[in-house]
Amino acid sequence: DELCVMYAGRIVERGAVDDVIETSVHPYTRGLIGSVPSRNPRGQPLRQIPGMAPPPFALPQGCPFRPRCPRADDACLAVPEMVEHMPGRFARCQHPHLEDAA
Ligand code: SF4
Repeated sequence: DELCVMYAGRIVERGAVDDVIETSVHPYTRGLIGSVPSRNPRGQPLRQIPGMAPPPFALPQGCPFRPRCPRADDACLAVPEMVEHMPGRFARCQHPHLEDAA
C-alpha cells in the first residue's frame, strides 16, 4: 500500500503507491520515474538523472542528491529532514514538488 524511495541509503520519499508514482514530490523520485522506458517517447534517447550516486564514504555536504538535483540551491547545503508535506506524503527535501501533488 505504501512506497518508500531510497537514495544514498536513506528514505527520501514515502507515501501511498499511486501518489508516489503519479505525483512524486522528491526530485530524485521524479528523475527515477521519468527514466522508465514506457514513460519516454519511442525513438528518443531515454531521460536520465545526470551524474552518479555518491559512495557512502564520500557523501556531499547537506542533501546527498544535491550535485544531481535540478532544484538545488544554498538551502540544500543543510541536511533535509523527513517532513510530512501534506497528509500521508513525506519527503526529505528543501524544495519538494508540491504543485501537482495530491
Ligand atoms: S533538498 Fe535540495 S538538493 Fe536535495 S532533493 Fe531537495 S531540492 Fe534537491
